[in-house]
Amino acid sequence: MFEEKDMAGCHCDCDMLTGISTKERFYKDTERMLYQYPQKKFIFLRMDVDDFQMINSYFGTCEGDRLIKIIADTFKNMGEEVFCTFGRIGADVFCGCFETSIYIKEFIECMLDKLEDNIKEYRVVYKLKVSIGVYRVRDKTLKVEEMYSKAVLAAKECKKDPNARYMFYTDQLLERALNKQTLVNEGYRALKNKEFQLYLQPKVSLSSGAIVGAEALVRWHHSEKGYIPPSEFIPIFEENGLITQLDCYIWNEVGALLRTQMNAGERMVSVSVNVSKVDLCNKKIATFFEKILTEHQIEAKYLHVEITESVYANHMVEITKQVKELKKLGLTVEMDDFGTGYSSLSMFRDLPIDVLKLDVSFLKNIEVGEGNRNIVEFILNLAQKFQIPVVAEGIETQEQLDFLKMVGCEIGQGYFFSPPITPEKFREKVMRGM
Ligand code: C2E
Ligand code: CA
Ligand code: CA
Repeated sequence: MFEEKDMAGCHCDCDMLTGISTKERFYKDTERMLYQYPQKKFIFLRMDVDDFQMINSYFGTCEGDRLIKIIADTFKNMGEEVFCTFGRIGADVFCGCFETSIYIKEFIECMLDKLEDNIKEYRVVYKLKVSIGVYRVRDKTLKVEEMYSKAVLAAKECKKDPNARYMFYTDQLLERALNKQTLVNEGYRALKNKEFQLYLQPKVSLSSGAIVGAEALVRWHHSEKGYIPPSEFIPIFEENGLITQLDCYIWNEVGALLRTQMNAGERMVSVSVNVSKVDLCNKKIATFFEKILTEHQIEAKYLHVEITESVYANHMVEITKQVKELKKLGLTVEMDDFGTGYSSLSMFRDLPIDVLKLDVSFLKNIEVGEGNRNIVEFILNLAQKFQIPVVAEGIETQEQLDFLKMVGCEIGQGYFFSPPITPEKFREKVMRGM
């Protein structure tokens, strides 16, 4: 292990819990080591435990601390074998800068194996995973902070893959992160310039073909990049909270549309808006919907909200509370993407949901396989028992429509009837009835 002479033996820069270097000392030592040994090859790695706060709440903070000490011991063990610096950056985050030969992967795997041996007992009751981001130190003039940022980027990528234990930094990763950031910056600008548009996709009665409702879907026609599908920007906007601003904008547009229809004395149907998982963490969301209802003076029966099943499966207590608040306002709550979120059947008993939206994936291959047909039939029977109407999403063909009618589904949505369209076209369609 590399120890700077004026630092060796000094314990004031040691982390209290683990006895290894603090972030400050680790940064200083690493900088000096890289400067003094320009001929040696190094890797810079950052390790942390996925969902560490879960360990604390599952086992208690004493056990959390014990786990941190075990990780620190693993770094100490590795430090005995090679020339290096290492330290605890904070909480469950550790970094090390290790001299390596050509066998980088073997080195990291050896470290992981050692760690895994030590944390076996945790694995019995909890699926514990650490993620390591690795930067091969190619440019020794970089500041340690910059190396750390590169390792963070790789670690983030590692977390996305449940089977990956370590990931290397690449310039493509950086490029992707920068593109993401650009999209977010442009998103803020687009919101200010009203570049986002409200589109509506009709919901249709399968027996009569009449329009009985609609789903509000956002569209982004970027001034230079053209159409950007929601699947590309919504997950990114969800990472930084921009989604809440966008959703509020769309909900407000829906409120304004309903008011226009009402003023014009047109036929009206309910419009459902998407509520992102991020919005659901916001305690003020019911207040916001209340404001929309009063500002535009619209009856609550015209506004539906869609929440996705996967959110409910992961946060039952909070979501049940939010749903109850929304229902108090008189809003209809629809469960979106039903069948993909692995929530248990007790949801039917515990969650006061009004409508189920059957996920689009179940209609795929319905013509060929029995599998999806059986699932759809099962869900419809179950919903009927609880008297919850089902909306089938993504109907594209006559066969799908025939099958859905046969198993008793009453409402559907999909390209077979209409793609998402502008509010102007939608109003015309609703006036015509179909
Ligand atoms: P979603 O809520 O499940 O919306 C339905 C998606 O299915 C829409 O995709 C719609 O255009 C598409 N679709 C409609 N008919 C068909 C069909 O016949 N076949 C197939 N294969 N697809 C069909 P879109 O508009 O690209 O939106 C994708 C997802 O993005 C939405 O899935 C929703 O989760 C999210 N999203 C869209 N607009 C908003 C919004 O304003 N706020 C939030 N939070 N999320 C939104
Ligand atoms: Ca939806
Ligand atoms: Ca859906």
